[in-house]
Amino acid sequence: MRYVSTRSAEPGPGLPFCDILLDGLAPDGGLYLPQSYPQLSAETLTGWGELLESDGYAAVAFEVLRLFVDDIPDADLRAICERAYAVGTFGDPVVPVAPVTGDLWLLKLSEGPTAAFKDMAMQLLGQLFEYELERRGRTLTILGATSGDTGSAAEYAMRGLDRITVFMLSPQGRMSPFQQAQMFSLDDPHIINLAVEGVFDDCQDLVKAVMSDAAFKATHSIGAVNSINWGRVVAQVVYYVVGYLRVHAATGAERVSFAVPTGNFGNICAAHVARMMGLPVDALILATNENNVLDEFFRTGVYRVRSGAAETSSPSMDISKASNFERFVFDLLGRDGVRTAELFGPTLLERGLFDLSGTPEFAAVRDRYGFVSGTSTHADRLATIAALETSDGVVIDPHTADAVKVARDLRAELAGPIVVTETALPVKFSATIVEALGREPERPDAFAGIEDLPRHVLDIPADAGVLKAIIADRLG
Ligand SMILES: *Cc1c(COP(=O)(O)O)cnc(C)c1O
Repeated sequence: MRYVSTRSAEPGPGLPFCDILLDGLAPDGGLYLPQSYPQLSAETLTGWGELLESDGYAAVAFEVLRLFVDDIPDADLRAICERAYAVGTFGDPVVPVAPVTGDLWLLKLSEGPTAAFKDMAMQLLGQLFEYELERRGRTLTILGATSGDTGSAAEYAMRGLDRITVFMLSPQGRMSPFQQAQMFSLDDPHIINLAVEGVFDDCQDLVKAVMSDAAFKATHSIGAVNSINWGRVVAQVVYYVVGYLRVHAATGAERVSFAVPTGNFGNICAAHVARMMGLPVDALILATNENNVLDEFFRTGVYRVRSGAAETSSPSMDISKASNFERFVFDLLGRDGVRTAELFGPTLLERGLFDLSGTPEFAAVRDRYGFVSGTSTHADRLATIAALETSDGVVIDPHTADAVKVARDLRAELAGPIVVTETALPVKFSATIVEALGREPERPDAFAGIEDLPRHVLDIPADAGVLKAIIADRLG
C-alpha cells in the first residue's frame, strides 16, 4: 500500500507507510491517505469475528494494519500490535461494548492508561515510532502542545522508549487538577513537562516558533504527534472493525451505525475509512458541541472556519477548524487533489469558508458516505449524563454525552444498533459530572491519589528562546 497527498495534482507512485509515519503534512501541505481502500469481504469479517473471540484485539489489529502496511515484516508488525494492545494496558477484553437503553451501545475506548480514547492510537504510534527509529538508527524529539487529553496520551505511550524524548507544553493552571496530575506525576527522564505562562494558543505559538526554525528542528530531530498523523487514524480504524464485530456477535445485526463526538475529525475519519473498506455501517453520526463548524457543514454544505473556539464543558472538542476534515473532502470530491488544494488553500485563506451546497458531491454525503450530524450544548450534556444514569445506572463523560444526545435525536430515523464511541472516562471531567449528578464520578483504582504524587514540571515564560535553550540543554 502506497500513500498520496490530498493536494497532489498527479498522485504518482506514492510513498510507503514507514516514510509517511514520521511525517506530519505532505510537502505540498496536504494530508496523506492510502492510494485506495482495501476491501473487506463478508468471509474476512466472519474470520475476524472468530479471531477476535479466540485471540483478542491485538490479533485483529494486526490483520487490519497489514492491509495498510507492507514495509514492516508480518512477524514484527504482529509483535508491535501485541505490545501496543496488551491486556495489561487496556483491560480485558480490550475495547468491550456495553448496551444502554434504546439499542445504543457504548464502545469503551477509554480503558487505557490515561482514560481517554487517544490512548488507542498513541500506544500503537509509540511502538511503531520506536521500531522505525531503531531501524533507521535515529532518535526523535516530540514537541507538542496540549490542553488535556493528547499530551497525556502521548506521554504515557512514549515513556520508557529509548529513542524518543517528549517536550509537552501546557497552559499553566488551565488543565483540570486530574489532567495535571496525570501528566506531571510521570517520572521519566525522556518526558519533560513544561507549564507555559499563558493559554493554549500561546503554547501552540511556541511550538510553531520552534518548528519554523528549520536548522534547530533538524539538529534536534524534532517532530510532532498531532492528530493529522496517518498512523493515528489507521490505528483507530481497528476499533470500528472490532466494535462492529462485537455488536454483530451480541445482536446478530448485519449493519450498525456509529455516533462519534467530534473535534478535529480524527476519530470519525477512521470510521469513514472503515466504511469505505466495506464494513457494514449505515450512518456515521457526527456530534459536535457548541463549536459546531462540522455540524454546519454536514447540514448545509458550507464549511466556515471560526476565528477561535469557545470554551465548553466538552473541551477536547473545542476547535475552530477540523484538521483531519480535508481527508474526507478529498474522498467526497472524487479524490480530486487540485480541487482539494484550491478549497483548503486559497479559498479558505481568502474567504474563511468554502461552499459545496448545491453540488452533486455534497448531495451524496448521506447516501454514499453515511454522514448525518447534530449539535449538543452544555445543558444537553448535563441532561444526557443524568438521563443515562437514571435509565441505565451508567455514568458517561461530557464528550460521550454529546454523541449520545445526537444519536438519540436521530434514533427514530435509523434502524439497527447505534454504537457510540466513549472517548473518555467521567473521572477526567469531574466538575461537569458533579454539576449533572451532584456527586463525584467513580475513580478507577489506577488513579487513586494521583494528585498527591510528586510533580515533574517546569514553569516557563511564553518565550521561544527559553524553550529552545531548554530543549538544547536537555538533549545535549
Ligand atoms: C480528542 C477528543 C475528542 C475529539 O476527537 P477528534 O478525533 O479530534 O474528532 C473527543 N472526546 C475526547 C474525550 C477527546 O479527547
